[in-house]
Amino acid sequence: MPQPDRYVSVKIECHSKHLHDICVEVDRQVPPDLRCEPNAGPGYSRGGGSGGCSIPFSDELKETTMRELRDNFQGSKRRGYVLIHQ
Ligand SMILES: [Zn+2]
Repeated sequence: MPQPDRYVSVKIECHSKHLHDICVEVDRQVPPDLRCEPNAGPGYSRGGGSGGCSIPFSDELKETTMRELRDNFQGSKRRGYVLIHQ
């Protein structure tokens, strides 16, 4: 069963300076401000039209997200998402 309180709204700034919206499942609860709607599928959704961009859909992305949550929690909460620079 998906647990919506563990899905974090993440935006990845890729090498082309787009912001890609992604929903990442993590191992801890996240505050309502930072949650996203898990789509059907393995827990990821990607923003439209991202041809040519390589986004790390992997455990690495989850690690990075959790690290950002730890290190930059207040900033992320204020934005409403976790910002990751690739
Ligand atoms: Zn991109």
